[in-house]
Amino acid sequence: MSFLISEKQQEIVAKVREFALEEIAPYAQKWDVDEHVPREHIQKLADAGYFGMTFPEKYGGKNYSALDAILIIEEVGKHCTISSRLIVDHNFGAVGTILNFGTEEQRQRVLPAVARGEKLMSIGMTEPQAGSALTDLTTAAEENGENYILNGCKRWITGGGEREYTLVYARFGGVSGADGIGAILVEEGMQGYRSGERIPSMGVRGVRESEIIFENAQIPKANLVVPAGSSFGKLMSAYNGQRVGASAVALGIAQGAVDYAIAYADKRQQFGQRITDFQGIQFEIADLTIELEAMRSLIYRAALTAKNTITNRYESSLAKTYSAKKAVHIVSGAMQLMGGNGYSRKHPIERMYRDVRMFGFGGGTTEIQKIGIASHVLGRSLPQHRDS
Ligand SMILES: Cc1cc2nc3c(=O)[nH]c(=O)nc-3n(C[C@H](O)[C@H](O)[C@H](O)COP(=O)(O)OP(=O)(O)OC[C@H]3O[C@@H](n4cnc5c(N)ncnc54)[C@H](O)[C@@H]3O)c2cc1C
Repeated sequence: MSFLISEKQQEIVAKVREFALEEIAPYAQKWDVDEHVPREHIQKLADAGYFGMTFPEKYGGKNYSALDAILIIEEVGKHCTISSRLIVDHNFGAVGTILNFGTEEQRQRVLPAVARGEKLMSIGMTEPQAGSALTDLTTAAEENGENYILNGCKRWITGGGEREYTLVYARFGGVSGADGIGAILVEEGMQGYRSGERIPSMGVRGVRESEIIFENAQIPKANLVVPAGSSFGKLMSAYNGQRVGASAVALGIAQGAVDYAIAYADKRQQFGQRITDFQGIQFEIADLTIELEAMRSLIYRAALTAKNTITNRYESSLAKTYSAKKAVHIVSGAMQLMGGNGYSRKHPIERMYRDVRMFGFGGGTTEIQKIGIASHVLGRSLPQHRDS
């Protein structure tokens, strides 16, 4: 895809490659085993300028395009899923919501602190009984003087309870359906807010996936980012960029796995010759490469639709759906190229295989993305509720 990539972008990628080889690759396996990434490492990502790089300079950013950020996310993803996801979370999604829909006071308060790595951001949408059916969420926000009182529980929150900020989707004033949903910024230490059970996950183990709980939590009204009342579309639109970011992480993992496996296969000898001299292996390398390039095309295309980190919904869903599926297939193919060693924990592909499976769920399942794609093609909304 070099035809899309400018010289400046190639320089950005070369720089991040150097950083990733020195500061990330040597530790990725350890963070997986420890099930923890030290805050010092996260700070290094921020110090290198990878958090908030899509923000305007006045909010501590570099005004990078979404495609610039996607290239960086892809490169980092080759070495470490968690580092790459951290870059997504601090350029798209919840921070994109604040950038686009927050008040000026919120932008000035939150975004520079995120860019400096002082405050990390989670997003709290999913609930035990509201996953794909997000508009069924029940976490309640009720007005009380200068505060909103929040009650409820969120589940599967990446970084839940270990990040300073969480943008929480809640139901305001008991209004049912999408119209009752708005978003409020909850901060570490606010009364009535705590983290719950950590969910032991198959992959991406260095980050805490967790419940977060609100028991009469008092959240200042100044933290209301998107008020309820026809705002659900805004909230979802800001999440499109997160999906393209997640797709770039998946692409990075897949490309990293293929690079690693090819380097191995090109040295491995069987039947008296390099295994890459067998046509069966050459065809597999070609097939994996075609799939990688197809993924890359969809992801870069979606990134090019971005305005202030918000990407087009249809393009984002195409990228996410294709990447989530193909990346699993590609990493599995890379593992196959390595024979038994691909399955060994002494090589990174075993970790990548576990990590890459998450993209069929996180950021909205493949099936839900497909409903969005079909809705675009058919030119009408496709309500999923039995009573709709
Ligand atoms: C690693 C990871 C990280 C995550 N991080 C976050 C986070 O930071 N913040 C957050 O809020 N959430 C997060 N999530 C939650 C994620 O968004 C949800 O898992 C996802 O939206 C699906 O919800 P569910 O798990 O409840 O599955 P369900 O909604 O119960 O779905 C179960 C199955 O049914 C299918 N299905 C449901 N409805 C339909 C339909 N109408 N048509 C066809 N098929 C359907 C789904 O596609 C799925 O295959 C994360 C999840 C994972 C695994």
